[in-house]
Amino acid sequence: MTVVGILSLQGAFEKHRIAIEQLGISVCYVRYPADLDGCDGLIIPGGESTTMSKLLDESGLRPAVLDFAKKKSVLGTCAGMILMATDATDKKVIPLGLINIKVSRNAYGRQIDSFTTSLELSMNGSSVTTRGVFIRAPRILSMGREVEVLARVKDEPVMVKQERHMACTFHPELSSNNYVHQYFLDLIQKPVLA
Ligand code: GLN
Repeated sequence: MTVVGILSLQGAFEKHRIAIEQLGISVCYVRYPADLDGCDGLIIPGGESTTMSKLLDESGLRPAVLDFAKKKSVLGTCAGMILMATDATDKKVIPLGLINIKVSRNAYGRQIDSFTTSLELSMNGSSVTTRGVFIRAPRILSMGREVEVLARVKDEPVMVKQERHMACTFHPELSSNNYVHQYFLDLIQKPVLA
């Protein structure tokens, strides 16, 4: 039976539980390293990346998550994506380096720092339309060649994938469908290549 862990140190973890459970899969809230033992994948939610970075260290979860990510899939959303980057361009965040992207926090500026927009997600060879909810969202400044873009807004990448990991700058748990969570479950359930 597949179990999805949701990092629950801080932030918007509850709605991810609802999305995953709607897809018929169990969740486990992850607050301590041992919580990862029974998990097949991990979601790092939105919230405050500086606080989550600190709590990853205080809880002892940082090395446990890094170890987990060597074999299993991680999905980072908004602040979670900042934590998954290789470069967070902010000294207050020590990122996990799971996806080769450089990001900038709160990068849409003050007046328009929250918005929703229609998005085309390319998923397993086809494309679906959803609404992206961007809340004080980060922007991806650059990425390595190994990073695949799954969605863009005005030509800018907003959802990316590298090997078994994926991340988005928006909040998929706030849309009216579960496409992103379903895509993540497909990744988890695929056999890991090398
Ligand atoms: N602005 C937050 C940060 O930089 C992210 C916002 C969010 O997750 N909705 O950590």
